Amino acid sequence: MTQNSSHPKQRKEQKNRPAAEAFEALEKLYRRVDKEISESGVECWLRGDCCNFEKVDHTLFASSLELEYVRKKHPETFPPDNALCPFWEDGRCVERKRRPLGCRTYFCDGNFAEQLQAIYEKYHSEIRELAKRYDIPYSYKPFVLALRT
Ligand code: SF4
Repeated sequence: MTQNSSHPKQRKEQKNRPAAEAFEALEKLYRRVDKEISESGVECWLRGDCCNFEKVDHTLFASSLELEYVRKKHPETFPPDNALCPFWEDGRCVERKRRPLGCRTYFCDGNFAEQLQAIYEKYHSEIRELAKRYDIPYSYKPFVLALRT
């Protein structure tokens, strides 16, 4: 059977393959990020308010590839009348597997700010390259706003 005469389901699978491969590559990258963070010595103080962006006056950004990765599991619409991340429940993250790079590199301990920023920039440029490799148009948006619009 030639590629053009393939079954519609097969064609859909072929079309989805780049995204699936990109997500797999992103998961591998996240594992490297988590390892580097754990080796850096920075620790979570378990205050439970790092995702309370209004309180800590922080805007979390994420790239289009990361947003697509989250959206694959959460295609639903989240109410726009809330500035909090929809995955922040009772002071904890319920979507740790898919949380973007910005969440993985954000800690309260200011002593690590420069080191964490360097880690962020290094992996963010890798994510940009990944998107390019898999033909996923690059954009960079406030994470919560993107989920809630
Ligand atoms: S994805 Fe998780 S860690 Fe990131 S802002 Fe939302 S609740 Fe916090």
